[in-house]
Amino acid sequence: MQTASFTASSESTPSPADPTAGAPLAGRPAWLNRFHSLGPAFSTAWPARALPGPHWVARNEGLARELGLDLDWLASDEALDVFTGNRPWGGNASIATVYSGHQFGMWAGQLGDGRALLLGETRTAAGPMEFQLKGSGPTPYSRMGDGRAVLRSSIREFLASEALHGLGVATTRALCITGSPAPVRREETETAAVVTRVAPSFIRFGHFEHFSHNGLHDELRQLADFVIAHHYPGCADETQPYTALLAAVTARTAALMADWQAIGFCHGVMNTDNMSILGLTLDYGPFQFLDGFDPTHICNHSDHQGRYAYNRQPNVAMWNLYALGQALMPLIGDSDTALAALETYKADFPGLLRRAMGAKLGLPELDADGEIRLLNPLLQLMARERTDYPIFWRRLSEGLPGTPQFEAVRDLFLDRPALDAWAADYTAHVAGRDTAAISAAMLRTNPKYVLRNHLAQTAIEAAENGDFQPTQDLLSVLSSPYDEHPQHDALAGFPPDWASNITISCSS
Ligand code: AMP
Ligand code: MG
Repeated sequence: MQTASFTASSESTPSPADPTAGAPLAGRPAWLNRFHSLGPAFSTAWPARALPGPHWVARNEGLARELGLDLDWLASDEALDVFTGNRPWGGNASIATVYSGHQFGMWAGQLGDGRALLLGETRTAAGPMEFQLKGSGPTPYSRMGDGRAVLRSSIREFLASEALHGLGVATTRALCITGSPAPVRREETETAAVVTRVAPSFIRFGHFEHFSHNGLHDELRQLADFVIAHHYPGCADETQPYTALLAAVTARTAALMADWQAIGFCHGVMNTDNMSILGLTLDYGPFQFLDGFDPTHICNHSDHQGRYAYNRQPNVAMWNLYALGQALMPLIGDSDTALAALETYKADFPGLLRRAMGAKLGLPELDADGEIRLLNPLLQLMARERTDYPIFWRRLSEGLPGTPQFEAVRDLFLDRPALDAWAADYTAHVAGRDTAAISAAMLRTNPKYVLRNHLAQTAIEAAENGDFQPTQDLLSVLSSPYDEHPQHDALAGFPPDWASNITISCSS
């Protein structure tokens, strides 16, 4: 039998007293399973439902290396079975966790892992990590769902999480996808797939809401203490640890929103059950990276009100944080204290966004005045012209105003006088600065390769015909999106006309 082996990092090296210390991880990782140990109020031990005829769709060797996972084992039939849910990993029992949440602003009651299973948590070279299958069959929380995920949405999640990671944005990761010919009914009949996700924790705002709304305050406290102990240890030293936790989650969420807005990422379903307590991008459904710059863009065709439009994401995140604050009230007690923690979002987010957008201009230090005079007019012009968002920023990085390459930026605009006026302002702003250094920094901030809908769609259509190479090619390019990949230049072009006809709904 081939073996899976992890190399523990020094940070997480087991102590000599640990009976698993130094034990070979031969397809049997030394499970930590800390979430499991919270007890039956939090999860149900539940096996995956096997899928017939499993096959590999994609493996993420870069992530496997980061985790210290043996690459030969990852390519083995045993791993194929493990990551399809057809055999338990090292005999470990998988669990489905319970959570609730607000969906589209309405209390939705109990939800939970309806198609995901936590295989377990183990030490890896990157620290303790949880491994989760998505699409592994029905669970006690499936409600009316089939517990499955289709190949299409699995490829989108796999590529998007690695794309955001490559861009430096906090996200859950994706280790591999397996597929099966088993039919799965959505608008059309598709085939089943399973994504293996990896993160330090998959705990959501909705986990807290669940216990709070059901009056289970002991469990609520247990969960908060768990999250503080394992993920926010600094909060334990504060005089009000639960308020400190709320403030820390608020800070991470604000940072994530600034990153999403700057990169042009629309999540599409920012329900509280899709919000990570660690501030990670979580649950990729109808997401989209902007093509043309439209601040009001709605990527989810099921979002008729535009609640989760691109320009509403920062406010929705704050709304969701208030829902988390509400859930934590039995622990925090005093609403003024909770509100003070939440208000830090309003105080901090504008500066975070300004820094992120300023960095795109090569000016991370941009002040409020610069934002008004330099950034906002540019964004208004881009919105008027629906300028291609990734291509604009990349071309600007390669050709600042005053250089011959700036012509390629001008080519993107109809209203050249307006652009030239902006370029003059920019030139005045950076007068006396080292523009070569500015340009170099911008090339590390404005990616060349972005997972646009049409690129994902092309990879999906190839995969549906049995060709998984385009998925693997996209993975490799998106893992280092700021670098040049000359053989893949075609992946950095404008979207084709048909891209605007791609409709992405919650169906996945
Ligand atoms: P989402 O909006 O995809 O994050 O899912 C919301 C809730 O529905 C979560 O509790 C999911 O586990 C559950 N869910 C989504 N799709 C399915 C499915 N096909 N089968 C069972 N549960 C599902
Ligand atoms: Mg979800």
